[in-house]
Amino acid sequence: MNHTADDYSWPACMACGHELWVSEAGRLACRPCEDKTAKRLAELPALFRQLNTTASLMRGARKVGAATSGSRVPPIPPRLGVLSLAAAGGVATRLRDIEDAWRAALGWTVAPWRGSPAEAVPEHTKFLINNLPWACDAYDSIGQDIDEIRRLHSECTAALTGERRPGRVNIGYCPAADEETGGVCGKQLTASAGSPRIQCGNCGTEWPDMAAWRDLRRAQEAAIETGAAV
Ligand SMILES: [Zn+2]
Ligand SMILES: [Zn+2]
Repeated sequence: MNHTADDYSWPACMACGHELWVSEAGRLACRPCEDKTAKRLAELPALFRQLNTTASLMRGARKVGAATSGSRVPPIPPRLGVLSLAAAGGVATRLRDIEDAWRAALGWTVAPWRGSPAEAVPEHTKFLINNLPWACDAYDSIGQDIDEIRRLHSECTAALTGERRPGRVNIGYCPAADEETGGVCGKQLTASAGSPRIQCGNCGTEWPDMAAWRDLRRAQEAAIETGAAV
């Protein structure tokens, strides 16, 4: 970086550190960073829709009939990284946090309730795209938000890249407790890429949707901890 005698340093983009052009004077982030961020935001809703499917949860999971290790630790429901991006606290929440911060800086009220993550993601990205020119001009923390949007985009992309989706996969043992004996059912559970519904073939316990996968995982971990798993 060139410094003049009085050590004035030319303003640099807060996101990528490149010196700003004269035509970008007064901006906090450079135009290429703005353009890339706008593109990533525009792609996020479609990435999220793909992520929010049962099939993407199952990529790379062990196929039914594949040899098992004999370990007492069940194969966990696959792709919990995908689940944590798709569920509350994931992509939608991280986008909402950015929107709320921008709204606070603009003196606006916090983001309105936008419903489920699937409903909220397109709304948050729309808000962020509409206000990105302002943020690149005037929002002090734009550098970290551009980083966060890049991370979100690459986490979603990475989660969607992987092996071909298998058919039916093992997702660990049924953690349901028998009402009379208190023992754990322990039947191998399976799930198919076509539907998020999981039902135990032994005791009939059901996990109807992806939100329930989290409960299932928690119950399986608890069963392992207490040594109750078969
Ligand atoms: Zn830049
Ligand atoms: Zn069961």
